[in-house]
Amino acid sequence: MTTVSLTVRDYKTDVHNNWCPGCGDFGILSAIQMALASLQIPPHKTAVFSGIGCSGKTPHYVNAYGFHTLHGRVLPTATGAKLADPDLTVLAVGGDGDGYGIGAGYFVNAGRRNVDITYVVFDNGVYGLTKGQGSPTLRKGMRTKSMPAPAIQDGINPIALAVGCGYTFIARGYALDPKHLSGLLAEAIKHPGSSFVDVLQTCPTYNDQYTKEWYSTGPEGHSRVYRLEEIGYDGVVQDPSDEGEIIARKTRAVAKSYEWGDRIPVGVFYQVEAPTYEDGMAAVNPRLGSTPVVDLDVEHRDVTPLLEALR
Ligand code: SF4
Ligand code: MG
Repeated sequence: MTTVSLTVRDYKTDVHNNWCPGCGDFGILSAIQMALASLQIPPHKTAVFSGIGCSGKTPHYVNAYGFHTLHGRVLPTATGAKLADPDLTVLAVGGDGDGYGIGAGYFVNAGRRNVDITYVVFDNGVYGLTKGQGSPTLRKGMRTKSMPAPAIQDGINPIALAVGCGYTFIARGYALDPKHLSGLLAEAIKHPGSSFVDVLQTCPTYNDQYTKEWYSTGPEGHSRVYRLEEIGYDGVVQDPSDEGEIIARKTRAVAKSYEWGDRIPVGVFYQVEAPTYEDGMAAVNPRLGSTPVVDLDVEHRDVTPLLEALR
């Protein structure tokens, strides 16, 4: 039998890409395709779902199953797909406005469920598709070019929020370092549980504050963005049965996530092995656990007893 090796090209489509020139989205798209190729996950075993926003176009550009969902609704859609077909590698993508604003409730609850999906947020501090209004991650005092005045609300901290929600893999990447980001995404996809990757993404059209130059040049001339592994930071829980270690690593991850400005860390902040939602479902309903919904014979099923029971 001949083994065909998949390359990045196999995950590309010929759909015309209409992101603005220089948009950080391109780096994230490349990183997703590189991660899938590195893991050799066939396109027909992959599904990419998106919310609304510039990033929402991502499924159009990835050769896989895909669905461009409603504003803020990407996580319940991705969750449903994964529960129906556990063999699928499921990616959910969306912007910071989509995920932390409109979809905030879903963001919280997807974390605590620990469904085996990967959520990638294109975090540019603005609602790019609707002309650059400040998003939930824009910091107090920042004023992008389409705002009449500086932001008077503080921005949220997605990493700290994810820790509180219960995500079991939590990382931050940088769109203009797609090679490093692809490694993070590959780890996130391999992780059995809810993986979350917040990606700092430049929007050259509307965000003139968090620019490529700003990220790459700090006050002393060095890059603001640095990798957690460079300082020996390790966010992986070694003993998942040790509640004390879990709390200590979560606390450290939250503290580290507040480092911002002159130095901005990227990498894995926190990771722990924990039972998934799928494990829980299989425990309470062994039939569902052994037979994926997509394989259930629903056409020849007599639902009369169920309807009678509900009378
Ligand atoms: Fe990218 Fe910003 Fe253009 Fe949207 S508006 S495609 S985020 S540069
Ligand atoms: Mg945005």
